[in-house]
Amino acid sequence: MTKKYDVFIIGAGVAGLYTSIIIKKGTPMQVPSEPITVGVAEANRIGGLTKYAFIQITKKWAFSGSNLIRTLYGEAVQAGVDFFENSNVTKIVRQDNNFKIITNDEIYVAKYVIVATGILTFPNILDTPEKTNIGLHTPEEMVKEITKEFGWKKVLVVGNESTSINNLATRINNSNQFDKVDSYLINKNVNINSDYFGLDENLTSNYDGILFDYNSYKLNNGSTAFLNNLNILQENGYVEANAFGETRVPGLFAVGSVTMPISGVPEAIYSGQVTGLYVGHLLEKTTIADYSGRFPFLPREENWKYSFQHKLEKDK
Ligand SMILES: Cc1cc2nc3c(=O)[nH]c(=O)nc-3n(C[C@H](O)[C@H](O)[C@H](O)COP(=O)(O)OP(=O)(O)OC[C@H]3O[C@@H](n4cnc5c(N)ncnc54)[C@H](O)[C@@H]3O)c2cc1C
Repeated sequence: MTKKYDVFIIGAGVAGLYTSIIIKKGTPMQVPSEPITVGVAEANRIGGLTKYAFIQITKKWAFSGSNLIRTLYGEAVQAGVDFFENSNVTKIVRQDNNFKIITNDEIYVAKYVIVATGILTFPNILDTPEKTNIGLHTPEEMVKEITKEFGWKKVLVVGNESTSINNLATRINNSNQFDKVDSYLINKNVNINSDYFGLDENLTSNYDGILFDYNSYKLNNGSTAFLNNLNILQENGYVEANAFGETRVPGLFAVGSVTMPISGVPEAIYSGQVTGLYVGHLLEKTTIADYSGRFPFLPREENWKYSFQHKLEKDK
């Protein structure tokens, strides 16, 4: 049976989780017995890339990404958000005043959809760091890490932007620490269902480890192929959205790193905050950010021409 929601979120990384909580907990309903319903589809498991990261905010302050995810997930479940893990969204279709969200095993219907798919369809490569890892740091640091931690001698650098992967492979090779370093260009968007992230086993069996070039995914977003039918993507695959997360398609929003090549956890949380409150307002018009400071993170200046408040007033 098709499941219906007021809001459906695609991706349960930090952006999707935070947005779901904001919508559920930040929207005071006039009729509390009829709460807003929120569903979240996650292609892998809850947590996205943040789950694997140690989040560096300043040079002197970092915290565990997995702790953050655990806390947010607990809040979301307690707030009544429905989660569907291992549920890969393959297409979204606009239908009458709703959206049809099609996954590998289910169809959902929702009034509003929020895309929070980050930049990779396969953050789970970090489940097996001794075989597959992400080239996130400077190449020189990566060399130290992969020789010390994993003992790789034959390395395949892969990604979806040729200049970036060639650059990484060359700099790693220049360290003279490896017997063999090659690069391999994979599709701009890899379908989550494709075997081994779109890589041929005949190719990968020649190497000790596969290093995914994070920078190439920052240049070409790798998580948005399923949105090709909606004309909301920029040339490099990022979703085009305004400061409220609105895309060109009314009712379709985007938050987190799927909209921003240069971003991190704080940006994902911030965008989830603004878009979550905005979508909450669309569902329940009494939800506004007001001078009383009910939503203290939002602008409360006397002159709020460009503020969230201004936008909400206009929509009343
Ligand atoms: C090792 C590492 C260290 C990092 N360190 C820092 C740091 O120190 N500071 C910092 O600010 N940032 C850091 N980052 C970046 C940070 O993790 C990301 O900016 C953040 O995770 C983005 O959150 P997000 O929710 O937008 O996307 P993600 O966390 O990527 O979540 C997106 C989710 O969407 C899912 N998904 C994708 N496609 C589909 C689909 N079709 N259907 C259903 N689900 C889908 C994915 O499986 C994923 O779970 C680091 C990243 C890594 C990998």
